[in-house]
Amino acid sequence: MSGPVGHWANEELSALAARGLSRHLEPLSSPQGPVVEINGEERLINFSSNDYLGLANDAEQKAAAIHALQTWGTGSGASRLVTGDSTSHRALEKTIALFEGTEAALLFNSGYAANVGLLSSVCGEGDVIFSDALNHASLIDGARLSRAKTVVYPHCDVAALEALLAKHPARRALVVTDGVFSMDGDRAPLKDLSALCAQTGAALMVDEAHSTGVCGPTGAGLCEELGLHPELRMGTLSKALGGFGAYVACSNDVRQWLFNKARSLVFSTSLPASACAAGSAAISRVRRDAPLRERLWKNIRFFSAGLRALGLPAHEASAIFPVVVGAPEAAVNASRSLRAAGLLVKPIRPPTVPEGTSRLRFALCAGHTEEQLSRALAALQKLELPRGR
Ligand code: PMP
Repeated sequence: MSGPVGHWANEELSALAARGLSRHLEPLSSPQGPVVEINGEERLINFSSNDYLGLANDAEQKAAAIHALQTWGTGSGASRLVTGDSTSHRALEKTIALFEGTEAALLFNSGYAANVGLLSSVCGEGDVIFSDALNHASLIDGARLSRAKTVVYPHCDVAALEALLAKHPARRALVVTDGVFSMDGDRAPLKDLSALCAQTGAALMVDEAHSTGVCGPTGAGLCEELGLHPELRMGTLSKALGGFGAYVACSNDVRQWLFNKARSLVFSTSLPASACAAGSAAISRVRRDAPLRERLWKNIRFFSAGLRALGLPAHEASAIFPVVVGAPEAAVNASRSLRAAGLLVKPIRPPTVPEGTSRLRFALCAGHTEEQLSRALAALQKLELPRGR
């Protein structure tokens, strides 16, 4: 039965379609992996998952989750502050704190919930959040929810940020950045940001969603790689760690402040123990299995060299490689052509990326073979793409 909401939906969906921006859901009929199956029929080489280390379907990790499921059941029953806290949550937080080299860690139900909860707790009216122009939507939403003034600084531009910090004095100033940018794969200038924050008294928060498990000598992330210890670090269990949930690594005091204040934690049922057990297993795997991480980096170097050979822009900063095509329709068409060649590379369009920068986003994993990467490069070579940028 169609009511007013159905009418509103039709209006907005038509407008999205006219701009080439409507989205569709497509169910996988296989687990995550370098090759996935869609709708029980198409088998495609998967370049669109953030399961960078292939842990989402790892036997050891699944065994840990199954054991916890049998011990604790399927649900956690309530928010952490009521009866949703358990020794399984505590064990994971201890493991994370050790991994991150912090006094403490606090779990959240997702990276989105962590960012929204963190920013809206730490800042409020009268404060200023300085946010990189290409930060993830969850950071943008967290800043909005905080009611602090948000000052957006040009992407990775530390000099511009310095000028803006001087121009907007604040009771509390918080600089917020993705460590690895989710749609561009480049890295924030964390050393310079860290020095600037130390010099100006601003706090620094780094979102390590795409660097946890990928960067650093023990896989703890980009801050670990650079020897930096910003006061607030967010990491996800859902990408390279192959599970679900997220955390903020911080001091004991900040942890206590957050679980008193962060509404996305206070008013939401906590993670099930099975997710905690999977997270603990993933971190212990990442810490001891440097060769797995090295396989991912070998793939990153191989793919990057291949892109450069095609005259396409490339970096060796992360597992994410954007191939910008411009218009949304162009991205959809390019994705379709790659699909015909057996590759799953979903098109990324506004509002996920700025207008005019629709793209193919290749996400590599440790399990991709050189043959699979070469197939992707060969298919890219056949596309009409802007080159030499
Ligand atoms: N931060 C960044 C940079 C991300 O890319 C994402 C996920 N796309 C998130 C936060 C949110 O994490 P989650 O998927 O666990 O909610």
